[in-house]
Amino acid sequence: MTENNLPEFVKANLHVHTNISDGSQTLNEYILESLMSRMEYIAPVDHDTCDSWLNLTESAGPIFEIKKNKGFVKITALGNLNQEIRTEKNSLEVLHGIELTTLLDGKKIHLVGLGIDEPAENILIRLNSINSTREVRLKELVSEINYRTDEIYAGLYLDWPEVKAVMGPSKSPSRLHVGIALQIKYPFLFKTPRAAMSACVNHNLESYAFGGDKFYSARDGINLIEKTLHGIAIIPHPDRIFENGEIGNPHDVIRKLVEYGVSGIEIQNPEFEYCLEEYHLLASIGSDSHGKFDGPGRAKMRYTTKLERSQLEKIKDKINSKK
Ligand SMILES: [Zn+2]
Ligand SMILES: [Zn+2]
Repeated sequence: MTENNLPEFVKANLHVHTNISDGSQTLNEYILESLMSRMEYIAPVDHDTCDSWLNLTESAGPIFEIKKNKGFVKITALGNLNQEIRTEKNSLEVLHGIELTTLLDGKKIHLVGLGIDEPAENILIRLNSINSTREVRLKELVSEINYRTDEIYAGLYLDWPEVKAVMGPSKSPSRLHVGIALQIKYPFLFKTPRAAMSACVNHNLESYAFGGDKFYSARDGINLIEKTLHGIAIIPHPDRIFENGEIGNPHDVIRKLVEYGVSGIEIQNPEFEYCLEEYHLLASIGSDSHGKFDGPGRAKMRYTTKLERSQLEKIKDKINSKK
């Protein structure tokens, strides 16, 4: 609390994607922008990969000073980023994160891990094998789009290299890349990649269901994050909890994930704040932003989400208690 008894907020975004999954920016670019925007905490949580932060040391360049802790990296700007912040030391903490794709009762749901250790080789191999299914699935999706002649599909055709080109260095390509390729090729039909996705990618339900046997179950995913990697498992975007677009009953799913041992939940939608008291969960916040691929509104949230400082401290305390 501050002097006037109002809660103090901290600029934090604990759920963002880099170009190692399906975001538009490198982690370096995001760190730079976050320093300029006076963010205090960020967490890159790419889909089933940790490569963005695992490779941070080599790629950070001369403008940052990096101090590694267990589960965190502290980044300090060396004072020459731009005129505005030249006069003072400016720093932020990068939490080691991941967004795991898991299965609960046969349905895909995501789990965010924060403050995790560097995964051992056998875990990295499992994650790679999960991600190797993604290109196969996207190829199927593209052929479905090309094959269909009904409605909007009649005028659309994508060559696989056009999709491959927008994936760049991604380790975990997603439907969003197909949306980007469509938007680039048909800018008059689709204003944003998301518009292309909702017009024709998200209806391809057969491709949606692809994936299967390599994913962790939700219970195993939580154990991986909480016990093996000594981080905390967070329920992301509870208002769209199923990855197949079903609404279902998120409250039942939350109850199960609590039984399996999750530590927290994202509360950007206040409807889920009840979980903090009812299940003693930690509060986390994240825009789930993919940079400029999202369109202007959500892209801005990349630098503006806030969490009460006391809640952020609880997250840090719990992570530190496990190290
Ligand atoms: Zn997600
Ligand atoms: Zn996400």
